[in-house]
Amino acid sequence: KVCVLRLGHRPERDRRVTTHVGLTARALGAEGMYLASEDKNIKQSIDDVAERWGGNFFVETGVGWKKCVNDWKADGGVVVHLTMYGVPMTSAIEEIKKHEKVLVVVGAEKVPADIYNMTDYNVSVTTQPHSEISSLALFLDHLSDGKNLNLEFPDADLKIDPCERGKRFKD
Ligand code: SAM
Repeated sequence: KVCVLRLGHRPERDRRVTTHVGLTARALGAEGMYLASEDKNIKQSIDDVAERWGGNFFVETGVGWKKCVNDWKADGGVVVHLTMYGVPMTSAIEEIKKHEKVLVVVGAEKVPADIYNMTDYNVSVTTQPHSEISSLALFLDHLSDGKNLNLEFPDADLKIDPCERGKRFKD
């Protein structure tokens, strides 16, 4: 089981990026996203996508991040914070894969300093600054050895029939 914890979401500035964090998490097989902020619009738009495109992805808003991290650990899960200052993903991923429950934490502008000590792993996806969306996508891809690139979502109203040109949907 893999979930994502999104920190530092500012409702006006980060709406689009946070929505994309959620959609990326869903597309690459995570079960849900905890949002450390109250923003019902994000939940609504991701729920709408999940409704049409299938699966059971959940979004929980207004989550206290410390409690979320502590509860996850108390339940036997491991917590991975993605940060460009962390240890390279390539050296940490094999050990992380051994865990059944993984909570992936991504920040927005600046993350609270405490997070570095509360998580089990601080992992960098390259040591260059980029984005919570790209780091999450690469991390989830490597965590699943690329397998989650071809997930099927149950109970979908919309299913793409991949083709070389144009757009085709399955009936
Ligand atoms: N300057 C901020 C800081 O020092 O915490 C980070 C800002 S960055 C736009 C937002 C988020 O993207 C970070 O909190 C982190 O989760 C993720 N991120 C950006 N670059 C990363 C990298 N190279 N490796 C892992 N995560 C990264």
